[in-house]
Amino acid sequence: MQNTLKASVTFDGVGLHSGKPVRMILKPASAGHGICFRRTDIALGNTMVPALWDRVERTPLCTRLVNASGVAVSTVEHIMAALAGCGIHNVMIDIDGPEVPIMDGSSAHFVRGIMQKGLRRLGVPVMAYQMLKPVTVSQDGATATLLPSNRLTIEFHIDFAEAAIGRQSKTLDLRNGSFARELCDSRTFCSRSDVETMQANGLALGGVPGENAVVFDGPQVESGTGLRHRDEPVRHKMLDALGDLSLAGGPVFGHYIGERAGHSLTNTLLRAVFATPGAVRQVSCDAAMTARLPGQGLVWAEIPTDARRVA
Ligand SMILES: [Zn+2]
Repeated sequence: MQNTLKASVTFDGVGLHSGKPVRMILKPASAGHGICFRRTDIALGNTMVPALWDRVERTPLCTRLVNASGVAVSTVEHIMAALAGCGIHNVMIDIDGPEVPIMDGSSAHFVRGIMQKGLRRLGVPVMAYQMLKPVTVSQDGATATLLPSNRLTIEFHIDFAEAAIGRQSKTLDLRNGSFARELCDSRTFCSRSDVETMQANGLALGGVPGENAVVFDGPQVESGTGLRHRDEPVRHKMLDALGDLSLAGGPVFGHYIGERAGHSLTNTLLRAVFATPGAVRQVSCDAAMTARLPGQGLVWAEIPTDARRVA
């Protein structure tokens, strides 16, 4: 069955790129509403920004949604991952600025806030997207693939020059609360030179190494109290992929494989999936399919409470 929140939940923070304070309020919504942002700082015109793949403006650094009137919301991927991972299908997201608050750079605050309020069942089946044939896209040595599967599996491979990252691979079935248990607290990351380039271009102004991003500088790692997982970077890429895939407009049954992929390529993949005849079909989930959705089986006690030093 489709879910929404039992009650509104508010997140206060700063935008990673703008550095400006922002308040975001998730509000319950009815079945079939889907996930939609609403810019409450803009008084006139169309302020609704639906969280859908065809509203994505492809940029390398984050996932940015833009409506037909040019009203935008940036850095939506971590809240989208939290909603998908908790099994929330309908919510109105009021936001008083152009960028989702970065919190600690992961989805953990969002997951805890959502699960504290709890889910309300709406008595209407979930509409999901079932992959029927493989679709692959490539760009600049990166590839993203979706294969048919009766569940959502995310497989990711990264290969970074920074010695402290190097080559990392991980595959996870997004069932039985695995998102909250294994991915939701992994933080965004970059290299020290990326930070300098971004800040010279007026970006990442709200970034605080170790507080809301892990920064790799050769053998040095600025990670606050330490990495939360030895392979925190690849886990974060999987978190991003879940958020970006959920812009399909509902849960996806497929096996996603990302090889050095990013936000832009995952969106290109969704565009290719929907443009390829017979590649995907929309299905109304029966009880067995619903049981395989991300968010089913999520246990409060398994949600990470704090940064854990592992290395
Ligand atoms: Zn991210």
